[in-house]
Amino acid sequence: MRLYDSMTQEKKDFVPRDGDHVTMYFCGPTVYNYVHIGNARPYVVSMVAKRYFESLGYRVTLVENITDIDDRIINKGNAEGRDYREVAKQFADAYREDTSRLGLGRPDVEPLATEHIQEIIDLIAGLVAEGHAYQAGPDVYFDVDSWGEYGKLSKQQVAEMRHGARIDVGDDKADPLDFALWKGAKPGEPAWDSPWGQGRPGWHIECSAMSLKYLGAGFDIHGGGRDLIFPHHENEIAQSEAAGKPFARFWMHNGMLNLSSEKMSKSVGNIRTLRSILDKHRPEALIAAFLGSHYRSPLEFSEDLLEETEQQVDRLRNVFRGLADRAAGAPAGAALTAADQAVLDKLAARHTAFDEALADDLNTAAALAEVFGVAREVNAALAAGELSAAGAAAVRTELTGVIHVLGLDAVAGTEDEIPAEVVAMAEERRAARAARDFAKSDALRDAIAEAGYEVRDVPDGFKIIRTR
Ligand code: AMP
Ligand code: ZN
Repeated sequence: MRLYDSMTQEKKDFVPRDGDHVTMYFCGPTVYNYVHIGNARPYVVSMVAKRYFESLGYRVTLVENITDIDDRIINKGNAEGRDYREVAKQFADAYREDTSRLGLGRPDVEPLATEHIQEIIDLIAGLVAEGHAYQAGPDVYFDVDSWGEYGKLSKQQVAEMRHGARIDVGDDKADPLDFALWKGAKPGEPAWDSPWGQGRPGWHIECSAMSLKYLGAGFDIHGGGRDLIFPHHENEIAQSEAAGKPFARFWMHNGMLNLSSEKMSKSVGNIRTLRSILDKHRPEALIAAFLGSHYRSPLEFSEDLLEETEQQVDRLRNVFRGLADRAAGAPAGAALTAADQAVLDKLAARHTAFDEALADDLNTAAALAEVFGVAREVNAALAAGELSAAGAAAVRTELTGVIHVLGLDAVAGTEDEIPAEVVAMAEERRAARAARDFAKSDALRDAIAEAGYEVRDVPDGFKIIRTR
């Protein structure tokens, strides 16, 4: 697989650090509000990347943090007369609930910043000991000048950055570029004990501490939205590498999701929450709308886009329904016809193109186009009566495996699945008929009806239809 690395700004061959184990860290949300659909993009990208690596036979550890201590959380708590912890818990729970509705599963570890204070303190203490950080009043800052590679991710010159930077009133830092690792407690704010007095961690150091704790130095992939390249990821690299820990081997940044041509962010105000979208649309439509653009491209999000994708996804669902109907009662081990084989060959060619697209920097847009393309071909074959029951069953199995990688499993429509025991009774009934045991075959027909299904005899087998 080739993966684009924002550090080297080119696609490189991806080979994991540890044999068949892929290690990934993605920056998750700061939980002071319901997450907007833009926040769902890195989540979807990371979960689909995980599925893709798993489909290649890798084992994946995906860590996605939740920032549960931040000025905005504290301010919201103060404004509402609530403890900041209550605010953080409410929105962290809501984040997990909303993203779970997408049906993509969960990251393997979802660490909270407040549960890693000791690791954060240890990392800062090491930086202070090595002369890469200094205490100034109640705060501790990273000394940008002490580390020669600052700016290597965002491709900026330190001298130019310094020119544009400013020192906020109340900050005691020596250089405008220096950034806080530890913030001394202000009255009424949550605080933890540390060698530098009571305080709380800065945002950047949380991600260094948690990624290194769960994945170790030199882990494979660090992701997040491209809005985080500077300063967040630049600072994560500086802190981690100055502390002697080589950091991520690949930087995977998703483009921004824009709404009405404006960048979506919680502070701008043009917010569409993930939950409000999922209340109105099927999750598969949202996933397909995301995957229809390459993850690195900006995504212009609109109601029209969502409706258009919902129609494509519905057509795909109908193809699965058609295949299920055609496949009902397919005799086990039945031979495929030449026409079946022709459809399966088309599917195999599409599958190869699908794999090649994903192997090329996770090009889900091209992969999805192959899925919709094969859906059209299968639909035409169904309409022309070219697929036998066994052929339909084979196509269905194959196609179900393909769409799993993209997280579109729900489209295969298990809710309309005929229960296995009903299929078994229908099989038994056919055998009874073949043996001219009509009493038994009638009894089975009644039992199937009792279960809410009707079995109909068709030329090459039978068809089961749900009656209630
Ligand atoms: P935040 O809570 O703003 O720190 O964002 C959580 C994650 O969502 C980070 O990986 C951000 O880079 C990403 N993100 C935030 N806004 C957008 C957006 N409009 N489009 C895509 N990703 C975003
Ligand atoms: Zn982060």
